[in-house]
Amino acid sequence: MTFEQLDLIQPILEALKQQEYTTPTPIQAQAIPKILDGNDLIGCAQTGTGKTAAFSIPIIQKLTESAEHGKRRMVKALIITPTRELAIQIGESFEAYGRYTNLKHAVVFGGVSQVPQVNLLRSGVDILIATPGRLLDLYNQGIVKVPHLDFFVLDEADRMLDMGFIHDIKRILQIIPAKRQTLLFSATMPPEIQKLANAMLHKPQRVEVTPVSSTVDIIKQLVYFVEAKQKKDLLVTLLNNETVESVLVFARTKHGSDKLVKSLVKEGIRAEAIHGNKSQNARQNALNNFKDRKTKVLIATDIAARGIDVDQLSHVINYELPEVPETYVHRIGRTGRAGNKGVAISLVAPEEVKHLNEIEHLIKKKIRVVYDHPFVSLASALGASKAMDNAKVAPAPAKGKGYRGSKANGDFFRRKKREGQRSASKKR
Ligand code: AMP
Repeated sequence: MTFEQLDLIQPILEALKQQEYTTPTPIQAQAIPKILDGNDLIGCAQTGTGKTAAFSIPIIQKLTESAEHGKRRMVKALIITPTRELAIQIGESFEAYGRYTNLKHAVVFGGVSQVPQVNLLRSGVDILIATPGRLLDLYNQGIVKVPHLDFFVLDEADRMLDMGFIHDIKRILQIIPAKRQTLLFSATMPPEIQKLANAMLHKPQRVEVTPVSSTVDIIKQLVYFVEAKQKKDLLVTLLNNETVESVLVFARTKHGSDKLVKSLVKEGIRAEAIHGNKSQNARQNALNNFKDRKTKVLIATDIAARGIDVDQLSHVINYELPEVPETYVHRIGRTGRAGNKGVAISLVAPEEVKHLNEIEHLIKKKIRVVYDHPFVSLASALGASKAMDNAKVAPAPAKGKGYRGSKANGDFFRRKKREGQRSASKKR
């Protein structure tokens, strides 16, 4: 399949050539014709699948074809996305794919002065990319007006809900015209998203790529059992391994990320943090340094990491496991992109074993455990073993297949458990 076969107009084909895109990604091949045909659409796809081009290309094409020359520009496409980083990236996509058209776009997000954004909006734009809060802010001030909207796109809908934007979205749905083409993209499709989709889409077509519960196979996933207080030392050991080229480390808190940066820098490892307490400039600089390979390690919280789009990430490390299992899938999806082999490492303390179990349940597989390291935590291993035993005594599934995981793993855990019990009774 080529872009020509998707019946795209010459200015877009030219722009894609300049981007050196030769083949549409699966989400593009499926979604572009449906959007060009005027359908509402639910796209089940994560960042990294090419979903931004999947909606921006047909929007550019349809707006270009319907352009009424000589008329004052009005917002005809509104794209809502949860973070400023994502908003900027979507803006860059419209810029890139629309460079040979006459369309104008603006990107608006909070945390920065609204003045340049207002000036741009007043000069007239066709496409508006916005985070929910700033959009409503500008709407309430009478600066944004959307009386005629051809397209409404909700990007990363599941994250939007995770981040508590549901009320903002409902409000936005009240202020936009009912007659429009609506596109909703989400990496996961929990019931709340389905409900939202039912409320805002009209007879939607559905396209789906790599469903969230089947983590991309090219990513090698590993678990290291380690006590929380030894995680830093283990991380340093892992980062000093020469195969680790460019790594995104996920930490749970902003404070934790900053502390970790300090510790790593002390060990001579080039690291920076990116999180919501940093200014937009500081975040952008940290991201640029990471993209340019000036820093090897970028430490991020989930929210800050949302918009990060870096190809060729060799490793993702979960310094702490997320509490929501789907977040694990989002996190590790940052590596193994564009056919690169990626490694996703999770450091699991005893108190996190329950999260590990939930993740393994979601992805329907046991993640390989690496025991051959200096900080191995028996308590974590025992916790995992206990969970397996519990699974064994739980109401037996059909054919008596009690627990997930290989026999070798089970034997290992039972051996470790016996050793643990022996050493505990010796201490007593
Ligand atoms: P997205 O999922 O929209 O965040 O896109 C992920 C990355 O893939 C971005 O860096 C895009 O520039 C790139 N990309 C999108 N479509 C294509 C394509 N057809 N060929 C090559 N790269 C692409």
